[in-house]
Amino acid sequence: MAEDMQINPQRAKVLAENIASISSRVNAASKGGKQVRLIAVSKLKPATDILALHNPPTQHLHFGENYVQELLEKSRLLPRSIRWHFIGGLQSNKCKQLAEQIPNLWCVSSVDSAKKVDQLEKGRKALAEGDGAGEDKLRIMVQVNTSGEENKSGVEPGETTELCKHIIESCPHLKLTGLMTIGAIARSQAATEENENEDFITLRETRDKVVKELGLKEEELELSMGMSADFEGAIRQGSDEVRVGSEIFGERPAKKDAVVLEKTEQGQS
Ligand SMILES: *Cc1c(COP(=O)(O)O)cnc(C)c1O
Repeated sequence: MAEDMQINPQRAKVLAENIASISSRVNAASKGGKQVRLIAVSKLKPATDILALHNPPTQHLHFGENYVQELLEKSRLLPRSIRWHFIGGLQSNKCKQLAEQIPNLWCVSSVDSAKKVDQLEKGRKALAEGDGAGEDKLRIMVQVNTSGEENKSGVEPGETTELCKHIIESCPHLKLTGLMTIGAIARSQAATEENENEDFITLRETRDKVVKELGLKEEELELSMGMSADFEGAIRQGSDEVRVGSEIFGERPAKKDAVVLEKTEQGQS
C-alpha cells in the first residue's frame, strides 16, 4: 500500500519542479482566468512517481492511464483521493471491469462506440448497487477521430452527436462531459501561433455542432485536446483539459519494461 512505498526524494523534487513548470505554462496560455485541467499522464511510470506528485506539497489530483490492467493495479495501491482518467485504447470486453472495480475512476476519455458505452454503464451500475453506492456518475468523453487516419480510434465527427445522445438518453450511471482528440502528429508539428492545428479546429466545430443538435450549453461539453508537444496551442484554441506525460515524467520505458512497483532493497528481502 501507499504507506509502504519508498519515494526517492531526488526523484520527487524533479517531478514537483516539472509539474510546477507545466502548470505555470498552462496558466500562462489560458486567457481570462479560465481554469484548464492538467492531467498528468503516468502510463508505464511507477506508482511511486504518482504518489510523489499526489502527496503534499504538490497534491496533484488528476492522473491519466492507458492500460486497464496497469490502472487496476495502481488504483489498488494508491490513495482513493486520486482522480483517475482512462485515456487509452479501450476494448469492449474490459469496459465493465474498468467502470466497476475502480471507484475513484473519474473519467473515461476514450469512448468511441455504443457497445463500449453500454458496458461502462453496466459496470458503473453494478458498482452503485454494490459497495460503491453514493459514487459520482462516471464521466465520459467521446473520442473523435479528427484527423481521419485509419489507425486512430475515435468516432467520425459526423457520428459524434448520435453517440453523445445515446449516453445522455440511455445511461443513468454515466455523465457525458466532453469530446477528446489525439490528432495527427504532422498537424501538431505544422501548427504555429498563426496557423491553428486543424485537428483542434475540427474538435471545436464538432463540439459546436453537438451542442446545437442536442440543445446543450457550450460549457456542458468540454474539449480535451493537447499533449506534451502541443498543449499551449490547444489551450489557445479553447481546450479545457490537457493531457501531459513525457514533459512531466520524462521518456517512457517500453511497455515490456514498465513496472508498477519498483524493487527496493527492502522489497527484495
Ligand atoms: C500518452 C498519451 C498522452 C501523453 O503524451 P505525451 O506526449 O507524453 O504528453 C496524452 N493523451 C493520450 C491519449 C495518450 O495516450
